[in-house]
Amino acid sequence: MFKTEKKIYIRKIGDINNTILEELKDGLNKIFNKFNLSIKILNDEMPLKQSDYNKARQQYFADPILNRLFQYSINKQFFRTLGILDVDIYSAGLNFVFGIATAPENKLLKFYGTCIISVTRLRQEFYNYESNEELFKSRTLKEAVHELGHTFGLRHCKNYCIMRFSNHLGETDEKPVEYCDSCLSKLSNFLDDKNFRS
Ligand SMILES: [Zn+2]
Ligand SMILES: [Zn+2]
Repeated sequence: MFKTEKKIYIRKIGDINNTILEELKDGLNKIFNKFNLSIKILNDEMPLKQSDYNKARQQYFADPILNRLFQYSINKQFFRTLGILDVDIYSAGLNFVFGIATAPENKLLKFYGTCIISVTRLRQEFYNYESNEELFKSRTLKEAVHELGHTFGLRHCKNYCIMRFSNHLGETDEKPVEYCDSCLSKLSNFLDDKNFRS
């Protein structure tokens, strides 16, 4: 019943430059190919809804967006789906988020996992600094690898590791794009084919 070839699908949510998706795909391929995961950009974009927008905060509420994407990936039977947005997002109890993911304790994670990231706050122009394309590219990849890590059951990690929590760009820039040995072995266990026999 379960498809043996596992993929990470990238889905555009609302308006976002295609180049960002293409570059992200290349970066993710380098990291996840060794786990036999291939990356595919989907053609069907997901629209943002007016109800996702909080006028007072001038931000989009990430939680219902993630839920819709999760429902979509279950319907499509997509192993992992990463939604990417270029609007400012927040989550319950937080001023803003770089991204959010299906909770690591969700039982469905064995089969389907979903996360979303927003690139809006990854541009340093957002904070009135001069733009830096290379840093922007590397931050986008880092946030994606981090949120995907959550969908593979990983929690925040104190090591020099991509699963380290980051609350501002400085912290994102400090962490490496790789998983530490401890997270890597959890990830390999999670992806071990035995787990996916139904
Ligand atoms: Zn996190
Ligand atoms: Zn780690």
